[in-house]
Amino acid sequence: NTTRLQGKTAIVTGASSGIGAATAVLFARAGCNLVLLARRKAQLDEVAAQAKAAAEAMGHRPQIVVRTLDVNDRAAVDALVPALKEAGVQSFDVLVNNAGGAIGTERAGDIKMDDVDFMVNTNLVSLIQITQVFLPEMKRQDSGHIINIGSLAGREAYVGGTIYCAVKHAVKAFSQSLLKELVATGIRVSEVAPGFAETNFAVTRFRGDEEAAKAVYKGFKPLVAEDIAEEIVWCALRPPHVQIAELYVLPSAQG
Ligand code: NDP
Repeated sequence: NTTRLQGKTAIVTGASSGIGAATAVLFARAGCNLVLLARRKAQLDEVAAQAKAAAEAMGHRPQIVVRTLDVNDRAAVDALVPALKEAGVQSFDVLVNNAGGAIGTERAGDIKMDDVDFMVNTNLVSLIQITQVFLPEMKRQDSGHIINIGSLAGREAYVGGTIYCAVKHAVKAFSQSLLKELVATGIRVSEVAPGFAETNFAVTRFRGDEEAAKAVYKGFKPLVAEDIAEEIVWCALRPPHVQIAELYVLPSAQG
């Protein structure tokens, strides 16, 4: 049933690039209104324009609200829901907690605390806070869907990814607990956990070294952002009695 999301509002963090941007466009195609959140305004505006065109091609006229947000700005996250209501957002139906990333490849003993802070805060603490600010709205509605973006790094740890693997394991655990807490409330929780997807992710991980980032995908075909976006929207399109708890999406060349 592809009409199930029509008129619903999907909120996407990290919507300015990669998986978040592709997800926004696909939700728009499915007839959703959008709330697009990230730090880079110009990129968000570009994604909003793409999403609008994709929606209009399907005959939809979505409301698209773009808002710059650093997910680590606790005061700004606290002020988010009232600000969105003032901007005319009427419901909060699907929340995609996607903002995140890894930085650095150092071994545990050498990781700088600034990088630890970045990874723990951006992938985990902000995800918890953002979930907290939307949850009361979903409870009021008796419906909603929280989709957290984990990682294969949340299933298997690897050398050079100590903190990122630790936080993505925590995202998985948080998602599992939240799912159990919200059983039969009308609010669903899913964790979508990608393997290698060619986005800006590796560029951030290698601190802007594009050659090193490209080398990650040498010799096999990685996923593209749309591959993950399709799975995220698929989760949201399941009928209300179906809960996709955990979904790993890997390139077929990755074990
Ligand atoms: P990108 O680097 O392309 O996208 C990351 C997004 O997160 C950007 O939109 C960025 O927006 C946003 N973001 C980062 N920091 C902040 C912040 N402080 N406040 C607000 N937004 C922020 O990478 P991906 O699309 O690949 O990553 C999306 C998610 O997928 C992440 O959680 C990542 O860990 C996960 N993932 C990715 C994999 C991959 O191989 N690509 C594999 C497994 C998981 P902006 O800079 O504008 O703020």
